[in-house]
Amino acid sequence: MVKYARFEGMAVTASPLSSPATTPRVLVVDGDADNRELYRDSFTLAGWTVTEAVDGREALVQALMAKPWVVVMELRLPLIDGVSLCEILRQDKATAAVPILVVTSETRPAQLARAERAGANAVLIKPSTPDVVIAETQRLVQAARTKTVSTPFRELPSPAGHRTALVKAHHRHATRVPDVPAITLMCPICTQPLRYQETFVGGVNSRHAERWDYYECARCGRFQYRLRTRKLRHV
Ligand SMILES: [Zn+2]
Repeated sequence: MVKYARFEGMAVTASPLSSPATTPRVLVVDGDADNRELYRDSFTLAGWTVTEAVDGREALVQALMAKPWVVVMELRLPLIDGVSLCEILRQDKATAAVPILVVTSETRPAQLARAERAGANAVLIKPSTPDVVIAETQRLVQAARTKTVSTPFRELPSPAGHRTALVKAHHRHATRVPDVPAITLMCPICTQPLRYQETFVGGVNSRHAERWDYYECARCGRFQYRLRTRKLRHV
């Protein structure tokens, strides 16, 4: 128990860090609501911020409003089809370097080849499981990052600056074997799998319990995943 003494009087974070520069953002472009929901849930669990678009035109607006780290798109889209969307994204200076992952029900080789010529970095054929889509997305982001090393992705605010209120003790405890196992997460900075370390259960009272899972990336340091908000942040 001594090991966890540092959790006594632990501070809670009123608003999880989610500045655009440090939160990985994916733009999901798919006309099918079920597909978008599946992507949204899966990426959110993996610590991503998800922006959605139902057609090519909305995708362009979204991509220019908040530049995504990566675009996951269907080729079969209303208004502006996927191949044209790839071309437009590649031509715009703001989005020219953003990786594009096509996940499509299109199977005709000529169409898939057109998508790659238009600027898609990788193509997956549906059905693709969320795990595969996320893994491929992370691979593309990492590959893009090694090409452009100038962006300061590790410029994170100090957690101390966000401390606002102390938790009153009720039934706080720390454990390495929580009732519900910790989920698998990827490092949002270098995209490698995070190593689970420990869980802290706290909150203002038992009705409003909170749980934070702590993870470590060998390269990027320690991360906190708050289950209630499903936010992963660097600590
Ligand atoms: Zn990392």
